[in-house]
Amino acid sequence: MSKNVLILPGDGIGPEIVEQAKRVLTLVNDQYSLGLEFTEALVGGAAIDADGVPLPEATLEAAKKADAILLGAVGGPKWDTIPDFQIRPEKGLLGIRSSLGLFGNLRPAILYPQLAHASSLKPEIVSGLDILIVRELTGGIYFGQPRGVRVKEGGVREGYNTYVYDENEIRRIGRVAFEAARQRDKKLCSVDKANVLEVTVLWREIMEELAKEYPDVELSHMYVDNAAMQLVRAPKQFDVMVTGNMFGDILSDAAAMLTGSIGMLPSASLDVNGKGMYEPCHGSAPDIAGQGKANPLATILSVAMMLRYSLDEGDTADKIEAAVSQVLDQNLRTVDIMSDGMTAVTTAQMGDAVVAALKG
Ligand code: NAD
Repeated sequence: MSKNVLILPGDGIGPEIVEQAKRVLTLVNDQYSLGLEFTEALVGGAAIDADGVPLPEATLEAAKKADAILLGAVGGPKWDTIPDFQIRPEKGLLGIRSSLGLFGNLRPAILYPQLAHASSLKPEIVSGLDILIVRELTGGIYFGQPRGVRVKEGGVREGYNTYVYDENEIRRIGRVAFEAARQRDKKLCSVDKANVLEVTVLWREIMEELAKEYPDVELSHMYVDNAAMQLVRAPKQFDVMVTGNMFGDILSDAAAMLTGSIGMLPSASLDVNGKGMYEPCHGSAPDIAGQGKANPLATILSVAMMLRYSLDEGDTADKIEAAVSQVLDQNLRTVDIMSDGMTAVTTAQMGDAVVAALKG
């Protein structure tokens, strides 16, 4: 049976980078008879311009029907001044995430040895870095109730939020992480603050319970403050890290920066059945939109993640990742990863090179 991929180019550089990713996806679809069909829809600012809302009903329906979704990026100055926050481009993404229950965020931080100089850390500390951060995306303190700002006795204002996870939420993100570790080096580090926060005492307990189902995966625990330190001290000690929404938000950005090249980093947000939305970690880069300068590799690598995690085509994903490594070996660089002695290429030329590498 054919599988449907929904493509959401979005705003800014979104359409340019998605165009190159689409070429790669179409090529492997034909090359390996994957039986994929493609649908395209509007989201974000492009949807506001066309339909007045960031997530039109037709887009949400298409997202629900699709087996996987590829997103470029949304947002830009054009829509920043819309006074109604419900009509902001980002609401399009949040709407898809919450409507589809995309609770499991996978963010790899991979530093190709060819780009080791791009990191702010010493090459020997980061060269060959390959970490996967699994972040819970729909719960925790960002969503916990009650929340707000209230006035205490004596007229003093007090802000408050609630950090809450039930055991089912912890178990389902734990499973995503253990399964991912199983496909990698079988090492999982669970990050919490169990010395201070009861919710993460429960988190740790559930991770220990799950570990019994995954005897092949080595589980360790680390407090979040130490994890932040270790990420910049010796990041290669990690394989897969799993953590809650807020800690994951911070640690995944820090890990991304270790690589020094935001244009190279893909991400996935998965539901309980493995259906997912795939997108580069970066935004819509309005400063370079329409100039052919954007690096399409994060989006192309998002296609690889999609094939691996939602479409059961891990071998094809490996081939795309190998093709990306090959174009880096050919010294081709978009401006964001440019350095002395390398050959500058445009967005489309980078796409051409990946397509050529895949064709062999
Ligand atoms: P950004 O990631 O868009 O850009 C940060 C810097 O990195 C810019 O200098 C940009 O030119 C550069 N950059 C980003 N991607 C690149 C690529 N593929 N190739 C080369 N250079 C690249 O972040 P920002 O400037 O903070 O945000 C711009 C807009 O994107 C905002 O409207 C923001 O809300 C939105 N945004 C969207 C998403 C998303 O769609 N998931 C995520 C983050 C930000």
